[in-house]
Amino acid sequence: VSFKSLGIIDSLCEACEQVNYKQPTEIQAEAIPWALQGRDIIGLAQTGSGKTAAFALPILQALWGAPQGLFACVLAPTRELAFQISEAFDSLGSTIGVRCAVIIGGMDMMSQAIALSRKPHIVIATPGRLQDHLENTKGFSLRNLKYLVLDEADKLLDMDFGPVIDKLLKSIPKERKTYLFSATMTTKVAKLQRASLTNPVKIEV
Ligand code: AMP
Repeated sequence: VSFKSLGIIDSLCEACEQVNYKQPTEIQAEAIPWALQGRDIIGLAQTGSGKTAAFALPILQALWGAPQGLFACVLAPTRELAFQISEAFDSLGSTIGVRCAVIIGGMDMMSQAIALSRKPHIVIATPGRLQDHLENTKGFSLRNLKYLVLDEADKLLDMDFGPVIDKLLKSIPKERKTYLFSATMTTKVAKLQRASLTNPVKIEV
């Protein structure tokens, strides 16, 4: 399999070559065609499986066709993971000119507010700080969001982000696509899945 045969457009295939992704990993090969068909996805996959590109490539491909407003939001449990995801979007999105903002706790609110005012396409955030900006940063909203990713959902819930995620879901349009990735399927993850995904395809690698 190649990225092209999964339906990935040439400019993104080129970006994959630039970062030396020679062929899709298993999770990418299984998730990308469904994602490009517009389905919600639950991916049961570990770190190291290539799960980040499995959600980043379909989002970038959709963004390429309609680059307007804040397009996608990725929720991550830790700052380190948020930065890693942002680096993946930056490198895979370099050929289509994507703008990302990382919004995490423990950093200056004001400089993040400035970053948000520069109209990023993708926000990668820890849930608490994102909610803080929704409540306190003028002009910032998730009203036009087209994609939501819940990455490492089991960890998000272990860290008690459940209530703030429930709150965030109320600020995000229902007519969006949602991708949930988790290393394990727990009762709490299943509950979050029911609250946030519509008729998802489940992929386990
Ligand atoms: P992840 O599971 O998303 O954290 O990715 C784990 C590592 O695999 C990262 O360093 C990625 O850059 C790398 N990676 C992701 N997809 C591919 C691919 N198709 N070929 C080679 N490396 C990849």
